[in-house]
Amino acid sequence: MIYLDYNSTTPVAEEVLQYMLPYFSNKFGNAASSTHLPGLEAKQAVEDARISIAKQIQAETQEIIFTSGSTEAINLGIKGVYNLYYNKGNHIVTVATEHKAVLDTCKFLEKKGAKVTYLEVDHNGLISLEELEEAITDKTILVSVMFANNETGVIQDIKSIADIVHKKQSILFCDATQAIGKVKVDVQASGIDILCMSGHKIYGPKGVGALYVRRKNPRVTLEPLIHGGGHERGLRSGTLNVPGIVGLGRAFEIFDFNTGTEQLIHYFEETLLQLLGSSIQIHGKAAERLPNTTNISFPFKAVDFIRHTKSKLAIATGSACTSAENLPSHVLTAMGIDKSQSEKAIRFSLGRDTSKEELNTVIELIMGLCDNP
Ligand code: PLP
Repeated sequence: MIYLDYNSTTPVAEEVLQYMLPYFSNKFGNAASSTHLPGLEAKQAVEDARISIAKQIQAETQEIIFTSGSTEAINLGIKGVYNLYYNKGNHIVTVATEHKAVLDTCKFLEKKGAKVTYLEVDHNGLISLEELEEAITDKTILVSVMFANNETGVIQDIKSIADIVHKKQSILFCDATQAIGKVKVDVQASGIDILCMSGHKIYGPKGVGALYVRRKNPRVTLEPLIHGGGHERGLRSGTLNVPGIVGLGRAFEIFDFNTGTEQLIHYFEETLLQLLGSSIQIHGKAAERLPNTTNISFPFKAVDFIRHTKSKLAIATGSACTSAENLPSHVLTAMGIDKSQSEKAIRFSLGRDTSKEELNTVIELIMGLCDNP
């Protein structure tokens, strides 16, 4: 099976797994039990993970809050700001191409009285900085823009976005779930105030992630969603998932930004362009993109290709969260791509183990369907 769906999830890296294993058995302590050694040992392991994560993104350790993944971190970040600041202002600005975890959270808050502006994107998936600036009012308590899109890999100009958000005295939430581990994410250099991340996108375990919450310049405060026990500085109660957190920390220590996927993506796209020319469309091609992601419309329907190749190939049309809905991608639609092109779009997301031989096999499969539709 050729797996090209690494934006959906990654395997746990062997060194991450080995690091986690003792915390399921002989090192089983509860990180909140401070009266005995097993508990203290677990707490130390959690704090070591917090240090590894903070170091990678240039944060302070107290600014990292462990969660069950990005979806929870997004809910905590967005609802946490809204619940605390809605008296100051009830306006949120986000982008039409955000992940459903952000869009559905905003939709939920709309029912509670929030006003949400959904910024449009251009043909390459990028927002307009002028439109962003115009959209922010003195009632805007939060701006939410993702670092890199999960379907197209398109990277927004987060530094410029943060400058505008701060000039207008608002707060920037950034969904960096797909960017972390693939490109350098630095909360100081880019001016991000709240950021979410997830273990299973970066060769760590599923069901664990974290939220970065800035403590100074500006200090960001949130209202917790889960109460009881006061874990994680009162922001996220509940016994900590020590093996998961240890795995997340280890995954952050073994980042490798030079896995060669960028060259492979280039090879893949160029070969397909040579073979199929203008009958294919690479979405977001002119924008800066993640080094592992390409989203291409072919002269055939994506569902037909997936059906034809199911036994050999693991790929997706877009986000795993919406793949069951069978609707045109909201990301491609927002980029102005019509329904018929959108139905022909396939996302290829490469990983550390992807080889040129595998891509050649995929190219053959694509050409096979072009010749015999
Ligand atoms: N945000 C983006 C951009 C994603 O790609 C995903 C994963 O699909 C999520 C959020 C949700 O992450 P998690 O699976 O950790 O809840």
